[in-house]
Amino acid sequence: MVFGQTMNQNNNEQGNNEIYTLKGKVIISGVIELLTGLHIGGLRETLKIGGTDNPVIKDAFGNILIPGSSLKGKIRCLLEKKEGKYTNDNRGYLPCSCGDCNICKLFGPHNSKEIKEPRRVIFRDAYIEVEEGKEIHDYLEIKVENTIDRLKGTTITGGVRNTERVVAGSKFKFEIVFNVYKENDKELLKELITGMKLLEDDYLGGSGSRGYGKIKFKELKIVNRPKQYYEGNEKAEKEEAKDLDELEKKIEEIWNY
Ligand SMILES: [Zn+2]
Repeated sequence: MVFGQTMNQNNNEQGNNEIYTLKGKVIISGVIELLTGLHIGGLRETLKIGGTDNPVIKDAFGNILIPGSSLKGKIRCLLEKKEGKYTNDNRGYLPCSCGDCNICKLFGPHNSKEIKEPRRVIFRDAYIEVEEGKEIHDYLEIKVENTIDRLKGTTITGGVRNTERVVAGSKFKFEIVFNVYKENDKELLKELITGMKLLEDDYLGGSGSRGYGKIKFKELKIVNRPKQYYEGNEKAEKEEAKDLDELEKKIEEIWNY
């Protein structure tokens, strides 16, 4: 009985009993090219002989990837900074939890109790493209960094770190799925593209202030699959774009909601 009351109160407070039905999916895919070395930390493997202090993240088969959560988290963080949308509690600054803003609609509120609409985006893990005749280790390098004693001008003992990086020029195949629920979701999709543009002028992974993790989105494709497509009644619209500016324009051409 108490549970029932709580449910009603929530519904009244939020005033949101709307049923959301899926209208379609817009899928953005392409390549993330590394312009500088990338480090997204995995598990430490210091006990392994020849292992580095700080290895790059790999899956169980040793394939290098950018986790979907890293990409999503970074883009969300950049959009939240742009909008001033984050919450401060005693643990520090946390992602927005309002449930109403574009960022919460795109990525879901930080606190799942505040979900008022279904979240729009899904980020797939982005795997490295291994060219023929090459192997995974061809894409890795060990970067040695140290801390200099300000008086002696020499390296401080214990100040040397080995960080594993994915080499510049490497390409990762990415895919982002955008679920369409409303006619005006086009604005949310454009917000996502804005976040991707902000990322190009920021960095992915660690040590960005030391030059790591500059990326570029390339070889872009945008595909619109209205729900009739899944029912076998309609073809998907597909466009290609050389960069994010062009991709943004293609949204107008494929959007039919
Ligand atoms: Zn919010």
